[in-house]
Amino acid sequence: MHCPFCSETDTKVIDSRLVADGGQVRRRRECLTCHERFTTFEVAELLMPKIIKHDGTREPFNEEKLRNGLQRALEKRPVSVEDVEAALNNVKLYLQALGEREVQSLVIGERVMEELRNLDQVAYVRFASVYRSFQDLSEFQQEIDRLQETPESS
Ligand SMILES: [Zn+2]
Repeated sequence: MHCPFCSETDTKVIDSRLVADGGQVRRRRECLTCHERFTTFEVAELLMPKIIKHDGTREPFNEEKLRNGLQRALEKRPVSVEDVEAALNNVKLYLQALGEREVQSLVIGERVMEELRNLDQVAYVRFASVYRSFQDLSEFQQEIDRLQETPESS
């Protein structure tokens, strides 16, 4: 990286240590040109991308919502909690690996379907049949919520 003092590009790492419980690397660098020293911090960037909804609005990735969607598709199916969590984790890792700041909700839906297809055919068909017609995970969620509401005695 550029020296903040003289903007030269040749700098040397003279010390490197883990800080913040190993979540960061602190590096002391020395500029090979002006010999000034400076510190850099390195942090792994594992941010979840924002979700672009069908109507173009953005919302933060919501793990709970995704978990609920998976669990509902898998209701009364012989799939363990561990497998659901692993599928959820696969979706998250996939999204992080894309390295995008924003992704279409469609991308998540397609990936969730892929995970479900591996887990349980019935859940996959359930999810796909509803999801395909909504093309939006939050709309899907709302629909599931609606279906699950016990009818109020009016
Ligand atoms: Zn310099």
